[in-house]
Formats: sequence, structure tokens, C-alpha cells
Amino acid sequence: MAAPHVSDPSCIFCRIVAGQIPSLKIFEDDRALAFLDIGPLADGHTLLIPKDHHADLRDLPQHTLAAISAHLPRLATAVMSATGATGLNLLQNTGRSSGQAVFHVHFHLIPRREGDGLGYPWKAGSYSAGAAERWQRQIAEALPAL
Ligand code: 5GP
Ligand code: ZN
Repeated sequence: MAAPHVSDPSCIFCRIVAGQIPSLKIFEDDRALAFLDIGPLADGHTLLIPKDHHADLRDLPQHTLAAISAHLPRLATAVMSATGATGLNLLQNTGRSSGQAVFHVHFHLIPRREGDGLGYPWKAGSYSAGAAERWQRQIAEALPAL
């Protein structure tokens, strides 16, 4: 028998996984669940989650990420072909300041079209001399051990 999922009773997505809250499911297997976002940015906005509770991306074990992200190509294909979207954003919010509201890690698949008004103001900056190399070193040194 499969092991029970790691679950947090106070988590809305764990309650969806457990069937305690209804959702419009697109796909599920023993580790992953995809369902329609209840507050879509566009028709067909879909969420992909692990069935196990992990608060955010930093807590997600490699094998769990591998198991759920393996479904992204065909899920993106389905969302785009069903909605007729010409593009798609894969969005993952980590932390409240990023916009994360549900602390059960999830990936948004957001259908996009020309002129739909969605998306970030993409204000690309630049580095002063030596700054990029400093960030490179500091981030590389902060990598947790595998
Ligand atoms: P976040 O801002 O955390 O990246 O995204 C959370 C998403 O979950 C939001 O887009 C929100 O609409 C969606 N959501 C929140 N509660 C529910 C729910 O009970 N059911 C469904 N299907 N989506 C939900
Ligand atoms: Zn959860």
C-alpha cells in the first residue's frame, strides 16, 4: 500500500489533496495533482502541486520536484491547446513578498496571449563593475549541500 501523504491539516492544498475541499482536477497520480486555480489570471489557469506538503520551493526534495515537474511539458501542451493560448507563463512564488499566499509549494501555468495585459513590468537593470562577480560568488557559496 502507498505511504500516506505528508499533510498539514491547516493547509488548503493538503485539504484539496485529501478531498476535503472540492477542486476541478486536471490530472493526478500518486505524487502530483493539477487542478484549476479558483482565481484565474486567465481562463484555464492551472496549478500543479506535490501531494506531500512542502511549504515552498526551498523545502521541496529533488525527487519530489522531479516527479511533479515531469508532467509540466504535457500539462503546458494541454492548457495551451485547450485554451487556444499562444503562450504560457510558468510561475512559482516563493515567500510572501513574491506573492505567495498558499504555503504549499505550487506551480502556476498561466495561459498567455498577445495584449492580454498580464505579466511583469520587466525593468532589466545592469551591474556596476565587479558587482556581478560578487553576486556570483556569494550565491555559489550559499548553495546548501546536496
Ligand atoms: P500563490 O499566490 O500562493 O502563488 O497562489 C495561490 C493560488 O491558489 C492563487 O492563484 C489562488 O487563486 C489559488 N487558490 C487559493 N485557494 C484555492 C482553493 O481553495 N482552490 C483553488 N482551486 N485554488 C485556490
Ligand atoms: Zn499542504
